[in-house]
Amino acid sequence: MAKYVYTFGNGKADGKADMKNLLGGKGANLAEMNLIGVPVPPGFTITTEVCTIYNQQGHDAAVNAIKKEVEAAVAQIEELTGTSFGSKDNPCLVSVRSGARVSMPGMMDTVLNLGLNDLAVQGIGKKSGNEWFAWDSYRRFVQMYGDVVLGMKPESKEDIDPFEAIMEDLKEEKGIELDTDFSISDLKLLVIRFKEAVLKVTGKSFPDDPWEQLWGAVSAVFDSWMTSRAIYYRKINGIPEEWGTAVNVQAMVFGNMGNSSATGVAFTRDAGTGEDIFNGEYLINAQGEDVVAGTRTPQQISLEGSKRWAELASVSEEERKNNYPSLEETMPALYKELMEVQEKLENHYKDMQDLEFTIQDGKLWLLQTRNGKRTGAAMVKIAVDMLEQGMIDEKTALMRIEANKLDELLHPVFDTEALKSTHVLAKGLPASPGAATGQIVFFADEASTYENSILVRIETSPEDLEGMNIARGILTARGGMTSHAAVVARGMGKCCVSGAGSVKIDYKTRVMTIGDQKFKEGDWISLNGSTGEVYEGKVQTMNPDLGGDFGKVMDWASNFTRMSVRTNADTPNDAQVARNFGAQGIGLCRTEHMFFEGERIKAMREMILSSTIEGREKALAKLLPYQREDFEGIFEAMAGYGVTVRLLDPPLHEFVPHQQATQKELAKEMGISLEAVKSKISDLEEFNPMLGHRGCRLGITYPEITAMQARAIIEAALNLKAKGIDARPEIMVPLVGTVAELKNQADVIRGTIEKVFEERGDKIDYLLGTMIEIPRAALTADHVAAEADFFSFGTNDLTQMTLGYSRDDAGKFLPDYLDRGILKQDPFQVLDQTGVGQLVQMGVEKGRSVKPKLKVGICGEHGGEPSSVEFCDGVGLDYVSCSPYRVPIARVAAAQANIKHS
Ligand code: ADP
Ligand code: MG
Ligand code: MG
Repeated sequence: MAKYVYTFGNGKADGKADMKNLLGGKGANLAEMNLIGVPVPPGFTITTEVCTIYNQQGHDAAVNAIKKEVEAAVAQIEELTGTSFGSKDNPCLVSVRSGARVSMPGMMDTVLNLGLNDLAVQGIGKKSGNEWFAWDSYRRFVQMYGDVVLGMKPESKEDIDPFEAIMEDLKEEKGIELDTDFSISDLKLLVIRFKEAVLKVTGKSFPDDPWEQLWGAVSAVFDSWMTSRAIYYRKINGIPEEWGTAVNVQAMVFGNMGNSSATGVAFTRDAGTGEDIFNGEYLINAQGEDVVAGTRTPQQISLEGSKRWAELASVSEEERKNNYPSLEETMPALYKELMEVQEKLENHYKDMQDLEFTIQDGKLWLLQTRNGKRTGAAMVKIAVDMLEQGMIDEKTALMRIEANKLDELLHPVFDTEALKSTHVLAKGLPASPGAATGQIVFFADEASTYENSILVRIETSPEDLEGMNIARGILTARGGMTSHAAVVARGMGKCCVSGAGSVKIDYKTRVMTIGDQKFKEGDWISLNGSTGEVYEGKVQTMNPDLGGDFGKVMDWASNFTRMSVRTNADTPNDAQVARNFGAQGIGLCRTEHMFFEGERIKAMREMILSSTIEGREKALAKLLPYQREDFEGIFEAMAGYGVTVRLLDPPLHEFVPHQQATQKELAKEMGISLEAVKSKISDLEEFNPMLGHRGCRLGITYPEITAMQARAIIEAALNLKAKGIDARPEIMVPLVGTVAELKNQADVIRGTIEKVFEERGDKIDYLLGTMIEIPRAALTADHVAAEADFFSFGTNDLTQMTLGYSRDDAGKFLPDYLDRGILKQDPFQVLDQTGVGQLVQMGVEKGRSVKPKLKVGICGEHGGEPSSVEFCDGVGLDYVSCSPYRVPIARVAAAQANIKHS
């Protein structure tokens, strides 16, 4: 019989850390912590397989499958804790926690204190000697269970939680202000009113039987796997639905049993900067997510952290010591124990840990550990430091780099000069580094109102996820470094300033007030996530520093890579930027822009409009020197590396004027009638230009264009050679579908080049190859290869033509396809390995079957996308080519792919 329930407790566990697929991340690590002697309250994990049974075969099938095992596991908790479920004297209380393989917002919130009812509450009161605490826990439980399991949490952002409303009413009746002002009889009254509300809203009475509560909560966890929030998160993070979530049921420990109790969260290193310093936040006499909820100001764990925090928050030492002392000061012995545990955990997992702990009456319990989310900068620093500290080797360090996250390090930061003249409006916590400038929005679902928006909230919640992802930056008035906003922003690599206390937000009027200044929706502000500063207006940004630790990561990448990384660049400047990032060559230099600037477009139009070959040649002769000069600049910037130049690709229609005034001007210049110009332009119109007269089809109709470009390329290379510069031209024919097309163009190119060599009395090595972007070219790659020195897979067009999706029109239906799971990912961003990938693989194999040394690369957008890069390595490509800013990402992805494949 399959095993669906895994228990842990008292230093023993059925599971262990590497069973994340089955137990979820939380469950696997709870088991592992038990095994390595870290104190963890006993409990059990229901496996992810049960989630699949639940979602496929329904509630009853799932419950039947696990009923016996769950009962036995609860009995084990009772035994280890000496309590009993539902007992009036010594009740067993548990938490029910969701936990997928990877931590995932959108999953069911944890339910604490499950097992409480009118009898059990008495037991808790007696046991703790604190009746108030018992009733407070009870009313929290009914509220939490009502919100989370019974679905009473309000859907809309304007609505208020029904339980909060009841509490507000009672406060008014009693003339009190704080939750802590309620008397025991008030709390009892709250429980009654809460339960009445449950009956009213759900039509059912609140479940008093602990077993009914437990099964309700377990089902709610499985249901939460299919909520729209969870589905959205899976979509943006590429997590498959099949994974499912596990459920953890665990004996409660209480951080809210008085002043010798506390709860907190901590990181073994700084998640924002990567600094090797234990840090975190805690609250005395608090439970569960109080620390991250932002309702009380959390205190720092270490004294040093506390002092740093006070400085940032402009809190005096006096006030800090009295009101916000560190755990190191308030509970030195427990602080020491926590230090030891964090060291043990980091050494064990050999990665930065994010941990959750609770102190119950002077005893420390760990409730969670996991590899901590971090910013791109922290990711790099931690990998470098751990390597240098001898904790991990270079390969491991490199594998720790999440290639896409390097992006955060490549983008601008605020210009320090510009910052000097800006007005600091407010200061919050540096929750997630980076620079952001944008227009204020107050609601997450309005984040897309502006191209650059800054989401300004009192605090954020999991509902805001989508909007947080869209906004450039996030500013919250409340919450610490571990608040929802801070943690999520760091995970997204998004700039965030949290807990800016002087920021007052009125959602109703949509106004943010700081001091006596008011800001409306749409007003510009800027955030510095590295310092916590909030500035008025737009602030100039500048380029980041790419040496130091970043440089080390790039060195590791070079040590392990097989493929080389080229760039797609059309200008010397782009080529230089990419080269600084370590690009080894240009995989795609488009030439069309070279026909646009200034005088060139006139010559180009003259060429297009003339009806004789002489006329065209005359116009092309004017273009030649421009092109030659452009190529010289690019070859020089990439000296020593290959530069693949693609011959003219877009349809000619794109180059002619469409406005009457410009058409008139052109007619005058060319000495022909406006009608003649108009008729020529309308001749060029096509029903479907993407599949029309473009690519090599142009060169076949007008070989003189191909000849001019070939000449410009080779003359440029020879000019550089004369100056001692190592230019390596590679001429690429676009949109080939049959070998005969390539042969036709190759003859023109080779013929022209021979002429140039003769004229110059000098030669240079060059390559002549083709794009593989039409399915037929891939299917007949063994024929095409006969005429080509290299292939470059143009996966943008190849995707378009294989799927039959027009890239320009796909926006109309792709979002639908993604929402409904018809496509798992946008095939224009992530290579469709099963479909388009087959053509790539076949192209490589067939091409190399006739030319074993055939050089093969990719130059579509996919060349800078890590999973696609991995695929390219797997099918044996020689290089990938991507836009300049993706080069470091592709380099790391290429090295990681090689490590995985070898
Ligand atoms: P999340 O995945 O959102 O972090 P958790 O399941 O970790 O949710 O629960 C949130 C918090 O609830 C924990 O950090 C902890 O403070 C509290 N908690 C969960 N289980 C228990 C427990 N058995 N005893 C005490 N507190 C608990
Ligand atoms: Mg949660
Ligand atoms: Mg947690």
